[in-house]
Amino acid sequence: MFEKVAFIGLGLIGSSLARVIHVNHLAKNVVASTRSQKTLDDAVALRLISKGFSNPVDAVKDADLVILALPVQATEKVLAQIKPYLGERTIITDVGSTKGNVVAAAERVFGTLPSGFVPGHPIAGAEHTGVHAGKVDLFAHHKVILTPLPTSSDWAVQKLIALWQAAQAEVICMDVKKHDEVLAHTSHLPHLMAFNLVEQLANREDNLDIFRYAAGGFRDFSRIAASDPRMWHDIFFGNKDAILNAVDGFETQLAKIRQLIENEDSQALMGLLGHAQAARQHFNYMLAKKPVMEKNKVTQKFTILPQQHRFEGTFTVPGDKSVSHRSIMFGALAEGTTHVTGFLEGEDALATLQAFKDMGVEIEGPHNGEVTIHGVGMHGLKAPTKELYMGNSGTSMRLLSGILAAQKFDSVMTGDASLSKRPMERIAKPLRAMNAQIQTTGEKGTPPVSITGNQPLQGIDYELPMASAQVKSGVLLAGLWAAGTTSVVEPEPTRDHTERMLRAFGYDVKTEGNKISLVGGGKLVGTNIQVPSDISSSAFFMVGAAICENSDVTLEAVGINPTRTGVIEILKQMGADIQVLNERIAGGEPIADIRIRGTRTLKGIHIPEDQVPLAIDEFPALFVAASCAEGQTVLTGAAELRVKESDRIQVMADGLQAMGIDCTPTADGIVIEGKGKAGDWSPIFKGAEIESHHDHRIAMSFSIAGLRASEAITICGTETVATSFPTFTQLANEAGLTIQTVN
Ligand code: NAP
Repeated sequence: MFEKVAFIGLGLIGSSLARVIHVNHLAKNVVASTRSQKTLDDAVALRLISKGFSNPVDAVKDADLVILALPVQATEKVLAQIKPYLGERTIITDVGSTKGNVVAAAERVFGTLPSGFVPGHPIAGAEHTGVHAGKVDLFAHHKVILTPLPTSSDWAVQKLIALWQAAQAEVICMDVKKHDEVLAHTSHLPHLMAFNLVEQLANREDNLDIFRYAAGGFRDFSRIAASDPRMWHDIFFGNKDAILNAVDGFETQLAKIRQLIENEDSQALMGLLGHAQAARQHFNYMLAKKPVMEKNKVTQKFTILPQQHRFEGTFTVPGDKSVSHRSIMFGALAEGTTHVTGFLEGEDALATLQAFKDMGVEIEGPHNGEVTIHGVGMHGLKAPTKELYMGNSGTSMRLLSGILAAQKFDSVMTGDASLSKRPMERIAKPLRAMNAQIQTTGEKGTPPVSITGNQPLQGIDYELPMASAQVKSGVLLAGLWAAGTTSVVEPEPTRDHTERMLRAFGYDVKTEGNKISLVGGGKLVGTNIQVPSDISSSAFFMVGAAICENSDVTLEAVGINPTRTGVIEILKQMGADIQVLNERIAGGEPIADIRIRGTRTLKGIHIPEDQVPLAIDEFPALFVAASCAEGQTVLTGAAELRVKESDRIQVMADGLQAMGIDCTPTADGIVIEGKGKAGDWSPIFKGAEIESHHDHRIAMSFSIAGLRASEAITICGTETVATSFPTFTQLANEAGLTIQTVN
């Protein structure tokens, strides 16, 4: 990649990059100049450089890449020294933690900046310094910010991008001012606070005791105060304006929390702490999602070991996702307080919760499934200060499209890699017919979705072109603010959680046959919601029990909303031994305990099309049941499955075929040749490595298939299981499956 690379400064950062260059053979010759001869001798001994020079001028002669890896304050002096010895096509870059002052120094030295000059900053480091502290993987999976200038040429930028990519870093280009502002908040302010806190405690007379008895909180918070004072001294001066801004913001916030404590304002303090906690958890989630978004290799895998299996027990699976989402949305829009129990603490429902916090709604929890929402009323949402991140959740994005289209403010919704591929025009179109201003992205009309607020909405009569509860709900929700009546006619009945819960919140919603309508301009009143256990999550355990000899599984308090019970009906038709017990009503929704036993071999059926919308999310699991059944199972009328979190028809067909099942995907369904034989419970599936395409239901379905596998099944990309069923592996292993998780 380079003929000769010259480092000026070869400490932690410089020597780490030198290690990358050495290991990957990226340069024919690497040299360096530092202050001390010892550093240079050590670097030669470490074979990082061929030669060291005390004078930077000697190092840069004939170099095609010069890297300044020294304290930022030294930049100007070094640049002035080496200026006469730089070639026309020499690339000059740096690694300094501040950028505005580096560029200013270069301008003072060069006047017109050389086209090879491209400042940079790796967002990676450690508290240790010096040539021995460097590590070849210091930058791996970290970001490197390049700040190309108007004078920087493309060839220089491209070459530096390639260099940092060789270090396995993710390169981002950013403008200098933005870099300094962002870093002032994300790095410089936290360091300043850490130094300052340690200083505050160190100055107390009892400091020894404080340090001696300091708990983990102090250790975590103060770790970065062990960083190099000289470097941070330079950074605090070097990025003075942006840091002072960040400090002002910190002081204002500190005064606010101080006041809340002084006034013993419990509700406001809980609101503030809860908001911060949720934001931090959301941040974790965003970090965890990073590999998916960036198409890096996904790290989590399940391996299901083949063993003598039993599958039994009584379980409460997590709360229904659809009801959890809606409880937050309607609770936020209601007047008064809504108390939710059984809330699904999965990432999808948490994305909805975070979105409403971002719009100023005070929400306590979730703690063990309990959430308290202090509703702001139909007109109380506030403009979010940033994009609303919906993670993996199509429900959040489609339902919120309806709500946001009616607000006074503009908004943008984004999602992870999987959500970013899902069609959003299906909701945008009817909303536009209501006079909403809503934009999707690209030819396929996918996220991000941008909404311009302050548009007076008009009620419409909308004939749903597809059976989709999400689109129906999005339109009805927009209708809450629209003039006149909004009605939706559905081709097949779909889940009616929106209608039921709107009624529970006191809103008049009419259902006449397949037409649902409401009149805009009403209000919601806070209430208590018990979220039933999710029948979609229960379905994996139902199928597991149905395909496993002598199994006996009871699932408690499962939601049996008639628009969701297709899986029970289909399994019954396949001959499963399944009982619905203790039917009762909770929070407007019917619930029951469901017991399934492995007493007889399932048989293949043609799945009745009227059951398809009632079991739409359960088909991946039902395909596993069909594979274990005797005879052929045919599914038609389920094209919707192709636009779920993944193309569930194709992805399931690929996986089943890999496990030895004869199946044929069709445009709107699948034909599966079941391998079961009456009375024979021997393995059906052979071992395979399956790609789940980040689809939680695919991952869990193939896990359950492990109950009838002769060899180990490995499922890749299982991290999204947490979106809907965070306790899946724990409960499945308790029941008798052996899932090993590899992160
Ligand atoms: P370091 O380990 O202390 O290394 C600094 C290197 O610069 C040493 O080789 C030192 O020479 C040399 N040096 C110091 N003053 C010099 C001068 N006046 N002329 C020539 N060489 C001089 O520091 P580092 O952590 O690698 O930091 C280097 C740069 O990276 C800084 O600008 C910093 O802002 C930036 N950065 C640091 C981190 C981090 O976490 N540490 C992260 C991102 C960016 P001797 O070996 O002879 O002392």
